[in-house]
Amino acid sequence: MAATTSAGQLLTARRLVVKIGSALISDAETGEIRCHWLETLIEDVIRFFARGQQVIIVTSGAAAVGSSHLSKLDKSAGMEDRRTAAAIGQVRLILAYEQILRRHGFELGQILLTGEDIDNEHRRLNVRSTLQQLIKLGAVPVINENDTTATAETCIGDNDRLAAWVAQMVAADVLILLSNVDGLFTEDPNNNSSARLITQVRRLTPEIEVMAGHSPARNSSGGMVTKLMAARIAMETGCSMVIARGNQPYPLTAIENGGPSTWFVPFANGTESRSTCANDMPPI
Ligand code: GLU
Repeated sequence: MAATTSAGQLLTARRLVVKIGSALISDAETGEIRCHWLETLIEDVIRFFARGQQVIIVTSGAAAVGSSHLSKLDKSAGMEDRRTAAAIGQVRLILAYEQILRRHGFELGQILLTGEDIDNEHRRLNVRSTLQQLIKLGAVPVINENDTTATAETCIGDNDRLAAWVAQMVAADVLILLSNVDGLFTEDPNNNSSARLITQVRRLTPEIEVMAGHSPARNSSGGMVTKLMAARIAMETGCSMVIARGNQPYPLTAIENGGPSTWFVPFANGTESRSTCANDMPPI
């Protein structure tokens, strides 16, 4: 896809959902939050606000950040203690966002969701109206899965689909999945020099599904497979989705400038299946 097209989509979108993967927010070696990087992401988001756009953040990283601190508290704590790690990590994660946003004069509203909040209509409506209110007040919604209370039945497990459901809930125009890969490749680019980045996907064909299996995005919970699931949710509801590498500073500016990415084009009839009440979401 041409640089102008992707830049155009980000410029014209009224409402965007930005999902940040664990591998971006937390340092792979120390587990610490990458605050300098986060600062640049928030500056990008604020630039979108200045253009009159609405941005909802879906962030991963609670378990990644928490597990390194958990191991400092208890050397015997295993990685499997994900709930405890998330309880510790979520506080650190949200404080990092809150401090940066407050420095820029923005309030933050934290929402922690489980699958039940997505499946149950009353809960979903509560989430949606809270998002609506936060946006109206000029506060930035920051969402994660509630990894501490989720059970095997209610666990979503990956924030790719969570972000797509949020995008569906608020009738977002664009869903941005910031990851540690450039996008969807024909083959694993780590093992195959002829691997090609797919820049645009219009249909989720079996060939595309096979390509997702070759994905090098191993650090995230679902890799490319859950990203394609997210793409299906987005495309069916008239929302464009883009996967792009986010680990460099100002990752949203990089997409606008035509950096490597894979864009998923919504199905033609997608907008018809958008929730009519979601379209009532007011501008900031
Ligand atoms: N909710 C998880 C966390 O904050 C991340 C899930 C994912 O990686 O998609 O640790």
